[in-house]
Amino acid sequence: MATLIIHSNTLNFEQSKVIERTFAQGTKLTKIDNHFRVELDTPPALEIIQKLANEIKVDINLLPENFNAKEIKLVISDMDSTLISIECVDEIADYVNLKPEVAAITEAAMRGELNFEESLIKRVSLLKGLDTSALSYVYNDRLKLNPGAEKWISGLHKNDIKFALVSGGFTFFTERLQKQLNLDFTRANLLGEENGELTGEVIGGIIGAHAKAEFLHELCQKLEIKPNQVIAVGDGANDLVMMKEAGLSVAFNAKPAVQKQASTALNYSGLDAILDFIE
Ligand SMILES: [Mg+2]
Repeated sequence: MATLIIHSNTLNFEQSKVIERTFAQGTKLTKIDNHFRVELDTPPALEIIQKLANEIKVDINLLPENFNAKEIKLVISDMDSTLISIECVDEIADYVNLKPEVAAITEAAMRGELNFEESLIKRVSLLKGLDTSALSYVYNDRLKLNPGAEKWISGLHKNDIKFALVSGGFTFFTERLQKQLNLDFTRANLLGEENGELTGEVIGGIIGAHAKAEFLHELCQKLEIKPNQVIAVGDGANDLVMMKEAGLSVAFNAKPAVQKQASTALNYSGLDAILDFIE
């Protein structure tokens, strides 16, 4: 048996017809909370699912075979371009008109062309001497949650699932989001500061791809759960190591290389569609 999740609660007649035509006449669509499910005897090829999703403009995911929603106890998520819609470091750079230089390095790192750790050191060094009020400005004026973020997190908490935010960005933002959204755990990079200015350095170990995966394992130990009881969510190449460790991985508005390697992907829905996997 294979279960398809159709991440929409309002399929119109046309969309339902296309779904039926794709699988078989009489395919039964079952509505569960905010989404539809289809049970099939054999899992359809990924290309078929993707083609259908693009045709009806609704996300469709195949539940991984061994996935057990009832066992999920933790969701671990990336911050920049996943929980929030911006890349914080790019916006800080914009404050001093360095955005093109910094954003080009961010893009290359997210596509996996540049080692994340090196790219972060490079970008942060460009911020040397910047007044730390730039960080507050970015948090207050630029930082926006991605659609569905609050509903997603409160839905997880209702189901007794903890939420961890892990970021190759900065603690300045993860700590504020932790208070704002009542997050259970956070980890990110600490920016060096001196006399109200950034030193252009990151203090301590850099939270890159492997550190994100390590955080997942650390939390599993703390919560006494196994990695297959975790859902990992991200958009960039530096999320992939962590995503591979989890029982289910979600590529959220992700780069093609990330979508290819994740067990599920969302491109049309908000973050709250992740609740469809556990309800
Ligand atoms: Mg990201």
